[in-house]
Amino acid sequence: MDESTIVSPSIHPAVKVEDLLHTREDSGGVQPDRDSLLSLKIQQAELQSQIDELRRGQIELEESRDQYMDLYEFAPTGYVTLSLRLVVLHINATGARLVGSDRTRLLGHRFARFIAAKDRDRYLTCIRQLKEDGDRRTVDVDLALEKGGRLAVQLDLVRVMPANSDATIRIALTDVTERKRAEAEIKRLAFYDALTFLPNRRFLLDRLEVLLTTITFRPQHGSILFLDLDDFKTLNDTHGHAFGDIYLQEAARRLTSSVRACDTVARLGGDEFVVIIEKLNETEIQAAAETMRIGEKILLALSEPYLLSGIEYRSTASIGVSLFCDEHLSGEELLQQADLALYSAKTAGRNTIRFFDPQMQATVAARGALLTDLRRALQNHQFLLHYQPQVDRQRHLKGVEALVRWQHPERGILSPADFVPFAEEKGFIDSLGQWVLETACSQLNEWSRKPEMAHLSIAVNVSAQEFRHPHFVDKILSIIERTGADPRYLVLEFTERLMFGTIKDTLAKMTTLKSHGLRFSLDDFGIGYSSLAYLQSLPLNQLKIDQTFVRNMVANPNDVAIARSVIALGQSLGLDVIAEGVETQEQHRLLEAHGCGGYQGFLFGRPAPAEDLRLPF
Ligand code: C2E
Ligand code: CA
Ligand code: CA
Repeated sequence: MDESTIVSPSIHPAVKVEDLLHTREDSGGVQPDRDSLLSLKIQQAELQSQIDELRRGQIELEESRDQYMDLYEFAPTGYVTLSLRLVVLHINATGARLVGSDRTRLLGHRFARFIAAKDRDRYLTCIRQLKEDGDRRTVDVDLALEKGGRLAVQLDLVRVMPANSDATIRIALTDVTERKRAEAEIKRLAFYDALTFLPNRRFLLDRLEVLLTTITFRPQHGSILFLDLDDFKTLNDTHGHAFGDIYLQEAARRLTSSVRACDTVARLGGDEFVVIIEKLNETEIQAAAETMRIGEKILLALSEPYLLSGIEYRSTASIGVSLFCDEHLSGEELLQQADLALYSAKTAGRNTIRFFDPQMQATVAARGALLTDLRRALQNHQFLLHYQPQVDRQRHLKGVEALVRWQHPERGILSPADFVPFAEEKGFIDSLGQWVLETACSQLNEWSRKPEMAHLSIAVNVSAQEFRHPHFVDKILSIIERTGADPRYLVLEFTERLMFGTIKDTLAKMTTLKSHGLRFSLDDFGIGYSSLAYLQSLPLNQLKIDQTFVRNMVANPNDVAIARSVIALGQSLGLDVIAEGVETQEQHRLLEAHGCGGYQGFLFGRPAPAEDLRLPF
């Protein structure tokens, strides 16, 4: 600023007051009096002080402008000014740093050029809206950096209209990497499972709803696979949660790699997973077949042995399926259907796939009441133990198999198939098993005092879950002690499911029990996952040929061959072989011809209360 602009020319302070007076004298003026001279001097002094103040102000202004320029240049926010043609007219140092380029290379270029291609349209829309009707707009975009990579920024756009420049828009650029990260983290917490990083229930239901809406416009089939790992609870109980967690993570990994990228795999919690399969065939039959294939692939992947923290573990899963197409049902309802089908898969013997059918609905209500009923049943002594004869080649009674029954107050006598799988699922099997063992052992004790019955053994069915309970061995030994039963007459029957889980644990338990005189029979042999290596490593006493082979023996030579090879296998391993489900003389004759040593079935007697066992047999 120049002085003349701030000082009135008529009383310029640089002019000496005396000179001013002279001028007036020269022009023939009158001699000024002392008073006016004084007043002029005072005026001049005042002016001088005003000038000093203005100078100070000017210096301060310059300093603050420099400060402002520093602040502006290096502010945490980047500033860009765009021309009418959206070209960069000016950009501060921070702005250039964020864009990741040299300022000289930015000036004169359209700003859109530095925005990632995917976000360019949104940026331009935002500019259009700003020009049409707004004074400011905000949009999040990624900058495409010159050195490669992206930077998430927030753009705050403001319209400016300076009088003598063509600047139109000023943009504030803020680095929002941290905010985006926090947003993603929140989203992850809200929609993903922390253990497996799979989508959670909320995500799944969201996805389903979207899918169901789109499917209304473009008909196609989809399916929901509700999946549950068999025996997970026992694994957790026996090996601890940390071990269970590793297993879940591995199962999640296998699950994800068994399906296509467009399918959704979610974890609902615990050992429950759901897979949504999309874009299946238009016909229901084809869609069901495709789903079946995928389900089988999943089951296979999940049943491969696991190596968890150095321990080999084997397990299986069960799957319930509900198909959908042009649905009037909600996602939640479809999920419920798949859950019902899952229950039926579990009941059918696990490692199985079941499709929902409407009749299942009827069992829902019953199922709800069942658990309450089961608990009450134990207190109210509603369980019964029936015994089915087992005979040798000479048809002499050698022992019995104990089979539980439930005398339900309203539904009559229920067979184990109606409640044992449910009791296993709900963790009730330990209490039920304890009752069965106690009753059988008391029976053994009672028989030991009758000479004609003292030689009979009792075979008790033990669920894999029960067996894997950490205190299973202690429980059995204390029951034996309490009831006074002779452990040499107690046989534990279990299926090949027991071989799933950790072999070391199974072996240790069996060895301890065997050292107390107990015997072991492998039930339902031939239908399972028989691994000969396992079979040989376990201290078994008996193989039980599954009744499905016995049933069809007469009509199906293949089943005869299976029965024959089980008998041969037993002989080579030094194990007794017993056939179950023997109903006809013909079956008996065939089995006998192939060297079977023991028999059980309706031909020799149905399961019945202990007092119905009559001797001589
Ligand atoms: P399982 O151990 O295979 O028992 C043999 C089943 O075959 C019994 O069915 C028996 O009644 C039936 N059965 C025996 N002989 C014949 C025959 O000649 N023909 C036909 N068609 N069937 C015959 P049940 O009593 O209904 O038991 C079913 C399953 O429930 C048993 O299969 C066993 O796995 C389980 N179970 C029974 N009692 C118990 C128990 O106390 N604890 C546990 N954990 N499971 C049990
Ligand atoms: Ca059995
Ligand atoms: Ca059996």
